[in-house]
Amino acid sequence: MQELANFTSSLKLEPMKGLPESWQQIQAEWIENTVRVVGQSTSTRENLHYLVREFVHTTAQILEGGPLDLLDPILARWASSLTQTDLESSASDLMRFMGVLVTSALEALITHLEPATALVTYKALLPCFNYAYERLAQHEIEAKITYISNHLSEVQQRLERLDKSKSDFIAIAAHELKTPLTLVEGYTAMLREGLSQPNTDSGELTPMLDGIENGARRLRSIIEDMIDVSLIDNQLLSLNFQPVWLNHLFAILEREFQPAIAERHQTLKIHDFPGSHAVLMGDPERLLQAFRNLLNNAIKFTPDGGKIEVNGRELPGFIEVTITDTGIGIDPDDQAIIFEKFSRLGNVALHSSGKTKFKGGGPGLGLPIAKGIIEAHGGTIWVESEGYDEVRCPGSTFHILIPQQHPSLEGRVADIFASLTPTPTPSE
Ligand code: ADP
Repeated sequence: MQELANFTSSLKLEPMKGLPESWQQIQAEWIENTVRVVGQSTSTRENLHYLVREFVHTTAQILEGGPLDLLDPILARWASSLTQTDLESSASDLMRFMGVLVTSALEALITHLEPATALVTYKALLPCFNYAYERLAQHEIEAKITYISNHLSEVQQRLERLDKSKSDFIAIAAHELKTPLTLVEGYTAMLREGLSQPNTDSGELTPMLDGIENGARRLRSIIEDMIDVSLIDNQLLSLNFQPVWLNHLFAILEREFQPAIAERHQTLKIHDFPGSHAVLMGDPERLLQAFRNLLNNAIKFTPDGGKIEVNGRELPGFIEVTITDTGIGIDPDDQAIIFEKFSRLGNVALHSSGKTKFKGGGPGLGLPIAKGIIEAHGGTIWVESEGYDEVRCPGSTFHILIPQQHPSLEGRVADIFASLTPTPTPSE
């Protein structure tokens, strides 16, 4: 471009005085040539026609003495096509468009003007083109800076969240471990005291032994959860695949949660849904653990008197289980976060060792473990909830998709068991 400018000035041509007489035709052809080369479909052509016409008309105003920055709003509009998702290619599209615009101008000038006049007019147009290139390059740099700084702040936010969740986790883990430990220590001291009394009846010591046992059980469960999270995190969770029936698993859990449901005056309704009798290939212990965590949360985050329902359906290749509660619900912003380990663990002070107490906290590992187990089965888990509202209680529905057969297993093994579709008996 600069070479051409030097060349035209070396020709010592007369400077341009006003627009050439045939400017109307030049303008029309310049626009048509550009649109023909760049526009592919009719709809883009119409839009493009407008954009090019606007540029060409503005250059005419500049040739008649207007300032170059008349082009600014047009160039800013063009630059808005620089998409953040594909900045490189949208920027080179824009530069290619400018190239076509320049060539088309030259073609139109040569067609309608004497060579000398065409060169003078082209020389007069050069500052417009230079200005447009410079401004577009500037817009591109600005778009890149915005993209990079957005990306950086996203990474920074993620790091800050990770950092916070790690320190939250340490605080919660310490708190969660300390609560049962204090129980064990307290009951041990009482037991020692009791045993030192000469006439102590052994029956009086039973509650203390129960307390120690409960505390130790709670400690074990927290430590096991921590180990499971670390296995999942390191992709070391090994599954013992065998035929599983969902109705069996839920029958076990229904019995297990009976005391908690009664204590909280809640209703637990487990439906006999399509697919609940079908044979699945899975690790029964791990699947029980995942559904236990979900039911435990449903009970915990539903007020007294609420309802929890387990339902499902058969989908091609999958069985979908839904666990719905009438509880406090989950804010849409938190619906992905709650499945992340060590994240959004809530207020440490609220955490307690009451497993099914209303809103009783835990170490925040139940959902990450359930997710890890379901995903290790080739399935997926997500939650739906209108939002968090402790007064209105919009409830939550957890969806769990489990493949009917694990791909790594012989289809025949599943087929053999598929014909056996037992229904659970109350004594199971
Ligand atoms: P924990 O229950 O130990 O806090 P989880 O990983 O099981 O940890 O759950 C993480 C968080 O997700 C809970 O603290 C709670 O805020 C939210 N949550 C999980 N299940 C439900 C539910 N059914 N209803 C409302 N909130 C829930």
